[in-house]
Amino acid sequence: MLDVAVCARCLREEQPPDACVRHPGDRVHAAWVYDERVALIVHALKFGGQPGLATVHAGAIARALPASACHPDLVTSVPLHAARRRERGYDQAACLAEALADTIGTPYVPDVLRRVRATRAQSELGPGARRRNVLGAFEVARPRWVAGRRVLLVDDVLTTGATMAECLGALRASRARTTGAVLAWAQ
Ligand SMILES: [Zn+2]
Repeated sequence: MLDVAVCARCLREEQPPDACVRHPGDRVHAAWVYDERVALIVHALKFGGQPGLATVHAGAIARALPASACHPDLVTSVPLHAARRRERGYDQAACLAEALADTIGTPYVPDVLRRVRATRAQSELGPGARRRNVLGAFEVARPRWVAGRRVLLVDDVLTTGATMAECLGALRASRARTTGAVLAWAQ
C-alpha cells in the first residue's frame, strides 16, 4: 500500500489511526506501509552507511504529501540520540528531511528539536513503556523559528507514534502548525 495518512496521537493511544479528523496537527503522511522490501531499504539507510539513499527515497515521501502538506515553511527531523549519531556517523532522519526539503523546495532547518534527556531505544520497549520513555523528552531548541510557521517533521519509520506525537506536541507548544512525514508506517 502507498501514500497513507495516520494520526500519531490516535496511534499512540492505540485507537484506529487512519481515519482521525480530531487531531489535524498529528497527521503523519507515510510513503509506504512497512514490509520486507521496505525493511531492506530502511536497514540500508540506518545501518548500511548509505545516507545517499535518503535522496533517492525522499521522492517517495514527497509524492505521499497531499497539496495541503507540501508547502510548509520549513522541514526538520526527529532528533537522533547524540550517541547513535556518533556511532553511525550520520542521522538518517535528518538526511531524509534535508533531501525532502530539497525535493519540495522548502528550507531545511536542522536541530529545531532537541532531546532534553536520554531515552532508551524504543525498539527495546512495549507500547506503554514507549509512551513513558519519550514523555517530555523533547523540546524546541529554536522556538522563534517555528512560532506561527508550518513545520513538516520527518522521521524514517512510524511505529507506535509515541516519539512523533511527542515531537509534534512540543512544536505546537511553540505555536507551530505541524504535519509529520515518514518513509514507512510499521502497522
Ligand atoms: Zn487522532
